[in-house]
Amino acid sequence: MTAPRIEVDLAKVGHNATTLTERLSRRGIAVTGVTKAFLGDPAIAGVLTDAGVAGLGDARIESIEAMRRAGVPGPMTLLRSPMASQVDRVVHHADTSLATEPATLALLSAAAQAQGRVHGVVLMVELGDLREGVMPGDLPGLVDVAERLPNIVLRGIGTNLACRSGVVPDDVNMGQLSQLAAAVEKDIGRPLDLVSGGNSAALEWALGGTDVGRVTNLRLGEAILLGRETLHRRPIPGLHTDAFTIVAEVIESRTKPSLPWGRIAQAAFGQPSSVAGANGHTTTVVQSILAIGRQDVDADGLVPPPGVELLACSSDHLVASTDHVLPVGTEVAFQPDYSALLRAMTSPFVATRIIAPPAVRPLVPTPAP
Ligand SMILES: *Cc1c(COP(=O)(O)O)cnc(C)c1O
Repeated sequence: MTAPRIEVDLAKVGHNATTLTERLSRRGIAVTGVTKAFLGDPAIAGVLTDAGVAGLGDARIESIEAMRRAGVPGPMTLLRSPMASQVDRVVHHADTSLATEPATLALLSAAAQAQGRVHGVVLMVELGDLREGVMPGDLPGLVDVAERLPNIVLRGIGTNLACRSGVVPDDVNMGQLSQLAAAVEKDIGRPLDLVSGGNSAALEWALGGTDVGRVTNLRLGEAILLGRETLHRRPIPGLHTDAFTIVAEVIESRTKPSLPWGRIAQAAFGQPSSVAGANGHTTTVVQSILAIGRQDVDADGLVPPPGVELLACSSDHLVASTDHVLPVGTEVAFQPDYSALLRAMTSPFVATRIIAPPAVRPLVPTPAP
């Protein structure tokens, strides 16, 4: 089979999505399933939809377009503020976008009028992580702009934490989001459709048992796909952490000295590690080379199987020490973290192999002859 490849176990992704959707729904929170790590692959997106997410979200309009073309159903949200150069595509293919700039809202409004559509917006508020969002004091003004623009409907407000700076969602910042939501509702005289409290990093807070206030939505990618919360990357109880596997193939495996020799200067990519024997002297290792590299994957984000230790990675070669010589063609399976998954999914050299659960067909009575 072709390598390198990503194997996706759809049953595990589906289980994770269903479990999180159910747990959060008991707290009054709906899930936007985030598709960016798998570029909107329709088979995986369909699993999220079947699991009962309220809609799908992606940061790239290209991936939303791909899902639309493939007939993936349901509302879709663009998670990154639309580029001015893409507003026509955004209004055409996405139902809603997250936005922060009055100029962008005006462009979305003009595009929506021209297309005879109505476009939803969720206004993002800065609550400390210092990525997207207006400062809380600027929210009323932005709400006012959105409310006045034709063919734009203000659907809600949201925030994003723990991405740029690692700021932890807690009762203080989430409480502030609730207060802002209440103030906006008072302002506009109607309830907001949604208050979006963040990404996978907000799960611990949302499921932790405190009052979730006015938060009614989370945008979840990594937690569904990899089964981990993202503040400490701990496994979430009851979820699969191995729905995605990256498989690479051995192209050389030989016994070699463990330390390099000759005069040493820079390597191609930073400082590689090597195995030193007693007293720092060279010893002998089985060194295996896998045909996967930085063009395919973020090697720092790969967890190798037992008996394999990663030593170095260049553009095209992953060097490992292995328990024994591995025959050429041996496949080795790694567990990717989010960064490794993202890179592998985006590499044209890495194939995706979807492992679908066995189809369960309802029993249909045979018609009488
Ligand atoms: C990527 C993204 C998410 C999803 O983040 P995860 O950590 O994968 O859950 C949510 N919101 C925004 C704005 C994003 O860009």
